[in-house]
Amino acid sequence: MKNDGNDCCGTCPFNGVNKGILAPADKNGKFFCEIRDFVVQDPYVTYCNNHPIRNPLWLRTPRGPVWGSVHLSFDSKPLDAGIQLPAELVPPQGEGNYFRIPYFRLVRPLSGEAGICDVCGDASEKSIILMLDQDKKFFCSTAHYFEWWLKTDPTAITYLVRTPLDQEAIRYRLKALPEKLSDGLSVLADGEQEWVYDVLREIDDLLTEIRNGRNELMYQVVYADEPEFDNPKFRDRLSPHLLHIQSGLTVVGDLLRRDDLNYHAISDSVSQIGKAVGAYLRQDGARI
Ligand code: SF4
Ligand SMILES: [Zn+2]
Repeated sequence: MKNDGNDCCGTCPFNGVNKGILAPADKNGKFFCEIRDFVVQDPYVTYCNNHPIRNPLWLRTPRGPVWGSVHLSFDSKPLDAGIQLPAELVPPQGEGNYFRIPYFRLVRPLSGEAGICDVCGDASEKSIILMLDQDKKFFCSTAHYFEWWLKTDPTAITYLVRTPLDQEAIRYRLKALPEKLSDGLSVLADGEQEWVYDVLREIDDLLTEIRNGRNELMYQVVYADEPEFDNPKFRDRLSPHLLHIQSGLTVVGDLLRRDDLNYHAISDSVSQIGKAVGAYLRQDGARI
């Protein structure tokens, strides 16, 4: 089975086969996304931001679209300069041979035959194709697929009407977090973990919004052991503090999912996250 990256439905704990385990699933299993309620036909070339690699708290609210991968040769035209993509709509990076683009509704875009682009009218020898019930769409490039998708898919439209957070708003919210976390910790032992959980969710959301945040961190984390995919474009911009925040969220997410809560360990990890947020603001906050 084709595999374009391990951060796919095939390894996801919510894929209906793994039953809460983060690991490669039995490929003969029936893949059904428990979060988005759909049969995943191609689990090893399908992705979303609810996969634990981009969702350290294992949140079950759908985050952004579902993505499929197409060959990188389709990445031939730039996205129109006027298009501002909300952070949650930016696809996770591929490892250099393929590019990820959103499903249209629950239909996976495919790499296909020659066609005339539905956006620009250019003929291309190979196209991204979309097989709809009554129609077949062709796109010459990932950029033109994206432009069409942004205007047409209901998921995109809900994100586009949101007001994006500006740098000041992100910085302001980050500054308030260490104190909120410490308030949350003071009631944690009284069984009020939901309070601290809410603050962690806020950190998790902000990590998506921060420039050079989750998407680029994840690229490095997924491919750190594969030098051929080491991408200096990301490596040189990454903040180690963001990496600490992300790994802290993964640890505390795991602790909070256990039946027997270890308050001491949770408290320790939450304090570390608060410190990392403070260090990020002091050292790298100007890059937000
Ligand atoms: S669509 Fe997302 S949440 Fe659902 S199985 Fe795939 S990666 Fe997991
Ligand atoms: Zn085109």
